[in-house]
Amino acid sequence: ALRGHRGWEKQWTSPEPRAEYDVVIIGGGGHGLGAAYYLAKEHGITNVAVIEKGWLGGGNTGRNTTIIRSNYLYEESMHIYEHSMKLWEGLSQELNYNVMYSPRGVMMLSHNIHDQQSFKRHIHANRLYGIDNEWLTPEQAKAYCPPLDISASARYPINGAALQRRGGTARHDAVAWGYARAASDRGVHIIQNCEVTGIRRGPDGRVTGVETSRGFIGAKKVAVSAAGHTTTIMKMADVRVPLQSSPLQALVSEPLKPIFPCVVMSNTVHAYISQSDKGELVIGAGTDQYNSYSQTGGLQIITHTLDAICELFPMFRRVKMMRQWGGIVDNTPDRSAIQSKTPVPGLYVNCGWGTGGFKATPGSANLFAHLIARDEPHKFNAGLTLERFRTGRLIDEAAAAAVAH
Ligand code: FAD
Repeated sequence: ALRGHRGWEKQWTSPEPRAEYDVVIIGGGGHGLGAAYYLAKEHGITNVAVIEKGWLGGGNTGRNTTIIRSNYLYEESMHIYEHSMKLWEGLSQELNYNVMYSPRGVMMLSHNIHDQQSFKRHIHANRLYGIDNEWLTPEQAKAYCPPLDISASARYPINGAALQRRGGTARHDAVAWGYARAASDRGVHIIQNCEVTGIRRGPDGRVTGVETSRGFIGAKKVAVSAAGHTTTIMKMADVRVPLQSSPLQALVSEPLKPIFPCVVMSNTVHAYISQSDKGELVIGAGTDQYNSYSQTGGLQIITHTLDAICELFPMFRRVKMMRQWGGIVDNTPDRSAIQSKTPVPGLYVNCGWGTGGFKATPGSANLFAHLIARDEPHKFNAGLTLERFRTGRLIDEAAAAAVAH
């Protein structure tokens, strides 16, 4: 600003597409851009394009409430989210880009005996795998988060909480921009405002490239990382994916002085909240009950969420809300992701992160790059197959993902 906004260097180049790439990644969110970065950095594959129909991070990456944690229940999930957490811890240094990772602690409130049993089960499972997660009494929860109302007269009294101290938040668009800059520096082409409209296949069924709004772009491998739009893109290659896309909303308040020191989630009353560095309370809602591609969502969903926030934190009753928006989340039946080869040779898919995939961004990107480069999964993403919905070997994280972040 002191230079009158002149002389800024572009963070990534915007080249004309080549006729063919070794890998085309569809979707310029954190997962797609991160996968391009790790393909270049860890596998030496730099003839890569990331194709984004809008602007980088304009999908769920730039719309989410940025909660990061790794205290999931099943082995497959714990490995992948903990892998991600470890990458978060060094990501600003890795990318030389401040992603503002802030391990301020994520506290999940328990309101009834069911919550308590479920959280304690998670705590025990997590500890067996060396993942931090601890049980707090209501008084300890209040000490950790002073605005919390723990009175017995509350509509849904709190009987404890699970706390992951290493959990926290990060700056969402910085993650997209940081990966984009680092990938571009290694030769990856970032192509924005270019919508994929078809997937072309050769006589042997193998992918040969993608049709786009800027013409055909050849590719030896095509990797789909398009979150809420996955089913529409996979349909272009005649692959059905067990996903439902629905709107998920968030909203922010007017800026306040620092008052909220951590992240709090409540599955039972269904709300989650933190405070951004700008001072806004960042509040997340639940998914709409119908499938849709609208990036807005129903009014009754956010009014319910605000009712819940006012119950938990009565001192926020007079705070004004400033902005609301929605993203399109891609939910699988078992609420775990899919990161898999597909029946079409050369076509890979990363999807199903649903309402909770921001925290997975570095880990997912890193493991997806491994799958694309080596044509076989890493041990951490080996369970995230498409086949599991046929064989029944599900990873049922519905409880861990209840409010789902
Ligand atoms: P996206 O960022 O959505 O990227 C996919 C990209 O594909 C988009 O940019 C889109 O434009 C592009 N695309 C689609 N179709 C095409 C096409 N035909 N051609 C070219 N490009 C295409 N997760 C958490 O871990 N913690 C949270 O607190 C959390 N809160 C959330 C709150 C909300 C309101 C929402 C909506 C989501 C939340 N999530 C959260 C989930 C998280 O945002 C996502 O799981 C994650 O960001 C997905 O990243 P992505 O890179 O896969 O997808």
